[in-house]
Amino acid sequence: MINTVCQACSGDGYTPQPLFSVVDNEPHTAVRPRPCRWCGKTGTRRGIRPRD
Ligand SMILES: [Zn+2]
Repeated sequence: MINTVCQACSGDGYTPQPLFSVVDNEPHTAVRPRPCRWCGKTGTRRGIRPRD
């Protein structure tokens, strides 16, 4: 089994998720880390085979 660095989160296990919210009629933009759905926060992906 080969473990490779997750391409989606670069091994962080989290991906930046832009959030838009309005507080007191003022728009706010924030970036929040979100658990990577590709690797499950592990930062690595497994089961990658050259050919199936
Ligand atoms: Zn990932």
